Amino acid sequence: MAVSVPALMKVAELVEDGALRLAERPVPRVPDGWSLIRVRAAGVCGTELHFLEGLLDPMGIPRVLGHEVAGEVTGARTGSSGSRVAVYNVMNCGSCRYCNTNRDRLCAHSLGMIGFTADGGFAEYVVVPERNLVPVPGSVSLEAAAVLACSGMTAVHAVRLAGLGIGDPVVVNGIGGVGLMLVQVAALAGATVLAVADETAKLDLAQNLGARAGLLIDDPEGYETLPEEAIRMMGRAPDVFFETVGTRETMRAGFGCLAPGGSFVQIGYTSQPLDIHPGALIKNELRILTSAAGSRNDLETAIALASQDRLAVVIANRTDLDGLPEAIQSLRDRHVLGRNVIRYESG
Ligand SMILES: [Zn+2]
Ligand SMILES: [Zn+2]
Repeated sequence: MAVSVPALMKVAELVEDGALRLAERPVPRVPDGWSLIRVRAAGVCGTELHFLEGLLDPMGIPRVLGHEVAGEVTGARTGSSGSRVAVYNVMNCGSCRYCNTNRDRLCAHSLGMIGFTADGGFAEYVVVPERNLVPVPGSVSLEAAAVLACSGMTAVHAVRLAGLGIGDPVVVNGIGGVGLMLVQVAALAGATVLAVADETAKLDLAQNLGARAGLLIDDPEGYETLPEEAIRMMGRAPDVFFETVGTRETMRAGFGCLAPGGSFVQIGYTSQPLDIHPGALIKNELRILTSAAGSRNDLETAIALASQDRLAVVIANRTDLDGLPEAIQSLRDRHVLGRNVIRYESG
């Protein structure tokens, strides 16, 4: 059954000099094998800042950002019109050696990422390869599904890569959208989690959702004492340090607090370089792991955990597309408890 789709849609697009512009565009044509999704919710991620600051290349402007997307299938040939879906944002082939080993984002035949190098969900409609649609059960809201499509998936991927052991002390540094998911997923995997953040409200939230302890550090110098504080609070040095902040001070503290054989897992970053002498790594056989986004299976896992009430999605503020600049500014100011979400009610 065909559903009527308007000719034009409202979008927020990245233009020159890192500016965002509200505009109208034609609703995109749907190539064979793709679906048109009526966007219902799109999360506003810290990665947006990297595009605005020029740290990431959108491979052409204007580009519609928004890579945490959930909505309804519209006018699909397959007859699944109206289905509630989350968008798996990595356009991978599904059959190469990376896709076969839960590392879809490294796909040898990648077509890029929705909301990164292809137009995304800061728009009323988005086109997506059919293989990128992930069903969302009725017990999970589309707002939650949107957030799971980035931060939930990212946390599942990073925790799987880190190979946590039951009871292992781990640190999650930075309690933003991804950090809050990491706390929960690491705790589900059996780890004992210390949350580190710059606001007590973030720590309270982390502790309500599974962190064993919280440590407030609200200035860069405070990180100098993190190694001793981590040992004091956890009984011994942590085995894993999940880094979602990525400044010189936080990265140095991360390596400084790891137990011998421990893993530093880089997830968040800034423009600042990682600067560590190899000897400091070799002496204790420390490992550097990096984790970005996740596989389709990681997203399916995140949605399943949410549907079982084992993974909470914390929405900070809801707004419409007009409120996107403000949502991004609050991220820049580091005052977001969970995730800001753009909602689409019209039509
Ligand atoms: Zn994201
Ligand atoms: Zn592949």
